[in-house]
Amino acid sequence: MSPEPAGPHSIEQFVQGYEQAGTLRGLRCPRCGARTATWGLACSRCGAGPLEEATLSLTGRVVAGTIVAVASDEFVNDAPYAYVLVELDGGGRVSGWMPAVRSEAEIAPGMRVRLVRSYKPGVQFELGGPEVRSP
Ligand SMILES: [Zn+2]
Repeated sequence: MSPEPAGPHSIEQFVQGYEQAGTLRGLRCPRCGARTATWGLACSRCGAGPLEEATLSLTGRVVAGTIVAVASDEFVNDAPYAYVLVELDGGGRVSGWMPAVRSEAEIAPGMRVRLVRSYKPGVQFELGGPEVRSP
């Protein structure tokens, strides 16, 4: 038995999911159905657990964002770019970057985005994707 608690998938498997399979792996609460991209052992909404493996939507809306002008080495040729927090359709929040967005005027909360498969590191989004009405 492992001395540390284990979840349905690891951070490495989450990264492999979007880099190799183009999917976002998440977790789902067995009691209330809440979905999250944040690794955990119990539901942050109702406390139930253990959480189950779930596939998250590849589309969502921008919740917040900023423009990164000073980038780390692996992104230096892409700056400036947007770094955004995205609320995925059906639940779960994921942060990612948007190389095509280069100024604050191009992005606002509520804008539709979708996951992009890329050879570059990190979760990457682009503007667009089907419009989905909030329930
Ligand atoms: Zn729950």
